[in-house]
Amino acid sequence: MIENREFRAVELMQETCIRCGCTFWITKAHRDNLIQTKNDFYCPNGHSQCYRGEDYKTTISHLKNNISTCQNIRKEKEKQIDKLEKSVRAYKMLFAREKKKQR
Ligand SMILES: [Zn+2]
Repeated sequence: MIENREFRAVELMQETCIRCGCTFWITKAHRDNLIQTKNDFYCPNGHSQCYRGEDYKTTISHLKNNISTCQNIRKEKEKQIDKLEKSVRAYKMLFAREKKKQR
């Protein structure tokens, strides 16, 4: 008797064991869950591994550095804008002076 089974396409992700180097596959959904939960999982040879990622303190530290860098860039851009505005004002004055002379 043939069973009527419904098959769905499953996206598989390749993994390589960090200890023995064997290659195995897990579903993308399972992998996403492992990345999010940082739970341990095992290669076919039983070696434990997990996605560690950075902890929240490291993430906060990186974000603070990014904010500091952006603030410095902003200050530098504001200085450049000030210089350009001064330059535009100076050229406007020169242009107006030359226009007066031509009359
Ligand atoms: Zn292994």
